[in-house]
Amino acid sequence: MMECLFCKIVAGEIPAARVYEDEHAIAFRDIDPKAPVHVLIIPRPHIASIADLPDSLAGPMLRAIQAVAVEAGVAESFRVVTNHGAEAGQSVFHLHFHLLGGRRMAWPPG
Ligand code: 5GP
Ligand code: ZN
Repeated sequence: MMECLFCKIVAGEIPAARVYEDEHAIAFRDIDPKAPVHVLIIPRPHIASIADLPDSLAGPMLRAIQAVAVEAGVAESFRVVTNHGAEAGQSVFHLHFHLLGGRRMAWPPG
């Protein structure tokens, strides 16, 4: 899957501002942040979206999100979003969880 942008970031072929990594996941700052804290948490293997997330990675991804929230200083209040499918707003087809924080959030999202 080396034509995949986020696989290239995992492999270190494209630079990204990494803020966290473990054996299952990496996290880096979104290039076009929508909040003071906007980090993308992604699995190391290529998985297209949350619809394909295996049980074996579901827990580790959530643990990574928790760890990033603490490290980013937003553990008190944050939002996690993942878009599945173009209609929902997915533009990169390698699973990523948006962690947003550092400002008041509106609901519902657009
Ligand atoms: P989606 O629209 O698929 O839910 O989210 C994709 C996210 O990836 C967007 O928020 C976009 O700003 C971010 N993004 C796209 N290309 C790059 C890149 O090359 N580097 C980083 N750090 N973020 C990217
Ligand atoms: Zn990929």
